[in-house]
Amino acid sequence: MAVVCPRCGREYDVTLFEFGRTLWCTCGARVGVASRELSLGAAAENRFLADAMLGKLARWLRLLGFDCAYEDRIADAELIRRGVEQQRVILTRDRALPHEWWLSGICVVRAEAPFEQLGEVLRRFALAPSVQLFSRCSQCNRDLASAHRADLAGRAPPHILATREHFWECAGCGRVYWEGSHTRRIRQVVERLLAEA
Ligand SMILES: [Zn+2]
Ligand SMILES: [Zn+2]
Repeated sequence: MAVVCPRCGREYDVTLFEFGRTLWCTCGARVGVASRELSLGAAAENRFLADAMLGKLARWLRLLGFDCAYEDRIADAELIRRGVEQQRVILTRDRALPHEWWLSGICVVRAEAPFEQLGEVLRRFALAPSVQLFSRCSQCNRDLASAHRADLAGRAPPHILATREHFWECAGCGRVYWEGSHTRRIRQVVERLLAEA
């Protein structure tokens, strides 16, 4: 099967256009086939994949409980492939990406500051009602579970274990979290953001 350049009629093999990849024809026109393999509807499950520019946004989304995969070095083709295979909305800062890949599940984040990016994504996908603070590990994206002090000896500073009430641990990386001034601060800024969103 061939894909035909709309301007000059030159034919290209369909296999060149996997996942909505496009190419420049020798005549200067962009040639492609729109792909429906990933749509923004994937956000119904609140699953995201952040590109290399959006590491801080990814950590914020995880703090709010959203499943957000992230790779700090990843080629466009691999980013797209992972988004499609895992059915994750692709969050990117690269405005050219939706022109180079005709795939509707690509969301260009316009804000520059991570916290503003978070507000933008919360509004865009109406995520506010689904926020579950501190339910997911900000480092590795796995679910957090409540933990008992008795099981955490040696895994958190003794004065923290002695003085705090609530702990969580990550089944993925083993990281231990606890309520403290940092979580209170995060709750405050997130509540303000949600009130605005
Ligand atoms: Zn052409
Ligand atoms: Zn973890």
